[in-house]
Amino acid sequence: MTDEIFRHDGYVFEFEANVVSVNGDEVILDSTAFYPGGGGQVCDTGSIRDIRVTEAFYNKDGDIVHRAPGNDLTPGERVWCSVDWDRRYGLMQGHTGEHLLFCSLKRQCPDLTITKIMISPESKYVIVNHDLTWEQIRDAQRFANQAIVDNLAVTKSIMDRDDPDLEKVRIKLDRIPEDEEISVVAIGDIDLSACSGVHVMETGELEMLIVDRKVSAGKDGIAIHFKVGQEAKDAAADMTSIATAIVDEIGCKTEDSVRAVANSRHELDLYGRLLRKATKDLASRIPTEDVGGIQVYSAVLPGSDRAVLTDTAESVKSRGGVALIVGVTDTLSVIMASGDTRVDCRKLLPEVLKQFGGRGGGKPDFAQGGVQDAALADEVSKALKDAVLKSLD
Ligand SMILES: [Zn+2]
Repeated sequence: MTDEIFRHDGYVFEFEANVVSVNGDEVILDSTAFYPGGGGQVCDTGSIRDIRVTEAFYNKDGDIVHRAPGNDLTPGERVWCSVDWDRRYGLMQGHTGEHLLFCSLKRQCPDLTITKIMISPESKYVIVNHDLTWEQIRDAQRFANQAIVDNLAVTKSIMDRDDPDLEKVRIKLDRIPEDEEISVVAIGDIDLSACSGVHVMETGELEMLIVDRKVSAGKDGIAIHFKVGQEAKDAAADMTSIATAIVDEIGCKTEDSVRAVANSRHELDLYGRLLRKATKDLASRIPTEDVGGIQVYSAVLPGSDRAVLTDTAESVKSRGGVALIVGVTDTLSVIMASGDTRVDCRKLLPEVLKQFGGRGGGKPDFAQGGVQDAALADEVSKALKDAVLKSLD
């Protein structure tokens, strides 16, 4: 079995070892500081001699395999190895940050459980079983950052399966094989969690912890994304600028901004519903007219609710008629639908819109397009009707 240096010292990143076996790209050493991944934390990268190690993982015998593509290593060779330290230290900070964040969130919601963890250079998140409010997350964040200021010790100990203190530990016993010892990580006196990953020694090393996003993770729950260290500081500074710009744009006090946005959205929903109803009413009052023996529906309507316009066009088409609808917003969006094979939307619509500097396309029975200048609505509408009449000659 490989001697796993990271188990007793997470800060060793350069070491000497003997090559035990080489099988193509896969190299086994007698001892290694390469963390093979686990507990949601991705594996280390680095080098053996001067050869790149792109991955490290456990094989079925419990040895750590280093993937070193194109290597010329030979068994028995003594080699100088190095783990990519900045990457690894970031992962240690992230992993410790995950412990700290989760125990802080759990203080807000005692029934919170972890579904999944991801600690990689690109993203750090913990998926929890249910949503939390931003107030709860803010309070958890404060608690975590106080623990960072307090510079609590992060220590590791081994516990027996029958240790009565095990009930104080966050642990998924069913995930730990019967013959495996239980490694418990403590953060000061605020958290005990079973974990065999690599961590920093003191919470002060995290520098700062922020939650910068929460998104649905489907049936797994909610993914709480976070950052630690310099990354957290940079993100916090950026987010402060963005938030300040938003508050400035809204024109309210910072503490009122969330409510102000919610109110605006509520109003917008309301206006949207009212406009949809008004557009529908208006659309239904416009009669069709006989153009060369075809029922033509020609209308200039408010264009913000495309669904209403499309539904109206489809309904005319389904009755064998032709719909010519000009929707007005800052620009014109034009919909043409035809239930009569003599009128080809794909041909007519682009021809007409081109005269007004616009473009369009689609199928023979349904086409849509646009014109930049909203002042041309009536002219576009008339030109469309003329084109239909002309095409019937
Ligand atoms: Zn851990």
